[in-house]
Amino acid sequence: MIAEVIVDITNCTVDKVFDYIALDTTKVGQRVMVPFGKRNIQGFVIALKQYSDVSDDKLKKILYAVDEYQVILPEHIELMHFMVKKYHLRFVDCLRLFVPSELRSNDVKPLIKTYVNVSKNPEEYSKSVRKNAKNIIALCDYLEVNKRYLKNALTKEFSQSAVNKLIDDGVLEVVEIQQHRIPDSYKTDENKHILTPMQKRATDAILKKNDTYLLFGVTGSGKTEVYMSVIEKMVATGRNAIMLVPEISLTPQVLAHFRARFGDNVAILHSGLSAGERFDEWRRVLFGEAKIVLGARSAIFAPIQNVGIIIIDEEHETSYISESNPRYNTFDIAKFRSVYNKCSLVLASATPDIDSYQKAINGEYKLLNLPTRINDKPMPKIQIVDMLSEIRNGNTGMFSNVLLFELDKCIKEKHQAMFFINRRGYSSFMRCTNCGYIPKCSDCDVTLVYHKKENKLKCHYCGKRFKALTICPNCKSTTIRNGAIGTEQVVSKLHELYPEVPIFQMDNDTTRTKNAYQKILFQFRTSKPAILVGTQMIAKGHDFSDVTLVGIIDADQSLYHSDYKSTEKTFELITQMAGRAGRDKAEGKVILQTYAPKHYAYRYIANYDYKSFFDKELSIRKNTMFPPFTTILRLLFSSQSEEIVREITKLCYTDIKRLRDEYIDDFVYLDAMKSPIAKIKNKIRYQILMRIKHKNEDEIIQKLYEICDRHENAKVSMFVEINPQNLN
Ligand code: ADP
Ligand code: ZN
Ligand code: ZN
Repeated sequence: MIAEVIVDITNCTVDKVFDYIALDTTKVGQRVMVPFGKRNIQGFVIALKQYSDVSDDKLKKILYAVDEYQVILPEHIELMHFMVKKYHLRFVDCLRLFVPSELRSNDVKPLIKTYVNVSKNPEEYSKSVRKNAKNIIALCDYLEVNKRYLKNALTKEFSQSAVNKLIDDGVLEVVEIQQHRIPDSYKTDENKHILTPMQKRATDAILKKNDTYLLFGVTGSGKTEVYMSVIEKMVATGRNAIMLVPEISLTPQVLAHFRARFGDNVAILHSGLSAGERFDEWRRVLFGEAKIVLGARSAIFAPIQNVGIIIIDEEHETSYISESNPRYNTFDIAKFRSVYNKCSLVLASATPDIDSYQKAINGEYKLLNLPTRINDKPMPKIQIVDMLSEIRNGNTGMFSNVLLFELDKCIKEKHQAMFFINRRGYSSFMRCTNCGYIPKCSDCDVTLVYHKKENKLKCHYCGKRFKALTICPNCKSTTIRNGAIGTEQVVSKLHELYPEVPIFQMDNDTTRTKNAYQKILFQFRTSKPAILVGTQMIAKGHDFSDVTLVGIIDADQSLYHSDYKSTEKTFELITQMAGRAGRDKAEGKVILQTYAPKHYAYRYIANYDYKSFFDKELSIRKNTMFPPFTTILRLLFSSQSEEIVREITKLCYTDIKRLRDEYIDDFVYLDAMKSPIAKIKNKIRYQILMRIKHKNEDEIIQKLYEICDRHENAKVSMFVEINPQNLN
């Protein structure tokens, strides 16, 4: 037999399938060692066949199998082919997504512990030993027949020689058992709720028919309980489950709920695990010991078979899209797996992605609604505060008077407050602090990004550059400001105001170390009164029962981010953040501070009116021809040499223009330019930007790939990005 092998080499542009002579035991999906050039390297067997086109004298033989089991499932080999075609990826980059890096590097070994079984009656045996063999007699007294002990513990207590003697004489039998490093999680009691009629309707619908569902449920509507019921029922029928959550909402609570309900049946895969834990959890999944995978984005690749349900929580999160090599979109993968396994795929959110909601309306997804909170608890009231009028009234601080008033009340009543600093779009825009004016691109209607180094404003969609603002064109004021308020500033201000109250800070700076995130959340949960100040990290998923006040310090940050989705993202973030308040008995209140109180997004946010927001947003997208009505494509080039990168960009651009002429009705926009961030790590970046209609999208993308291949150059890296989340 001939084996088709993908060799696992980094830094190599060879991405070919190589033929090797298979061993008798070679199986598809196995990791093997093969001779390659002058060395031996690892590879993955992706197919077996009878004949090779390579002549016999050139064919080499597989040396040996690295593992005795197959590390890649047949499903994943198909998935690899799908991804290679769809995203223009290298085989090996896909395969690397499917196995933990710990496996490939071979630096994590299974944790093996040695035990001894007591197979003969120790009491009988002790009668036969000399009276002065004290250790042996003590050991025999201690042991009970048919029990198992950790060998190390016995040698420590009763000496090595005593234990060895009993092993030699057949009283003890050595067994080696592989241990699983199972990640800790906070314990909680199993708290299974009786489903509300709404939850039950959603659960039944999902179980009844294999389809793709969009579960649109407001914050606090009990989506988690729906997920767990669906999974429980699936597992009971012998099928397995994948549950994805964004990395940041892998909160201790979610983990604890799943552990409490499903015990060791759930494997957890996320970046916070130690290498050993990740390796063991992955193996538990591969060997079918865990039936449920709970994890962040990459858990979609978990080697779980017979999948009966895939759930993607907070489906609007951009973290489901991988923006660096290998680039992929988790939904495509989830969809592939749900089709392969003939199972349902559930996307869920309180603020669905505009694109997903449109698909639900079009009937491509089935829409399921959970329109109210559990027990009909009211949504917290959102009060919009005009910060410009605060300034006019002499309050130039970062907190409005009403926020200070509500905070005082919250602290006196020994409740908890969360202060949200919106750091999305920190890349900074300019703003007139007198009238609130923000400069936008004259062509694209998106906010311009202030590039401090060059002191220029740039449009990230068309590349147009503008002078930095010094005088407001609207009110002629010179009070122009850029930059944003940071978490630190807010924390220190709060300390001044309430020196006695515990104040926790959560952002990228304070959560670098393992478990820091969980520790802060735990401390906050158990302190009353207390204030938690944080970025996006605190906005989502958390279920704190005592939070009565949510302060949104500068809501506009994400509103003026330079992308067409910025309004959508603002709606989503603030709705999610507001959803943290008033989740239990005490009522919640949200203070939203803004310089643009009349912006339509805020009006809809304050009324929790997703549908009207959706309609408005969709009509804007239609007029400007942005997604979901088109697809944005970016061909990104980077190289150490400006000359070469410019040359390659030009060559590709010429070809793409020809492609555009061929598909003249499909192209809405096409241009080539320097990337907004023109240099990263000393590599010069150029890009070709396109917006195309959907009709011939797949065809056009495949042709783009061909153009890339045609102009491949070892000195230039080239990527096609489909609807990139950022255009820096
Ligand atoms: P969501 O994810 O939709 O924001 P959660 O799943 O966090 O909402 O649920 C909100 C709260 O309601 C949680 O504290 C949860 O324990 C509780 N809950 C969920 N379902 C029920 C139910 N059927 N009966 C009573 N309480 C429930
Ligand atoms: Zn102005
Ligand atoms: Zn523009």
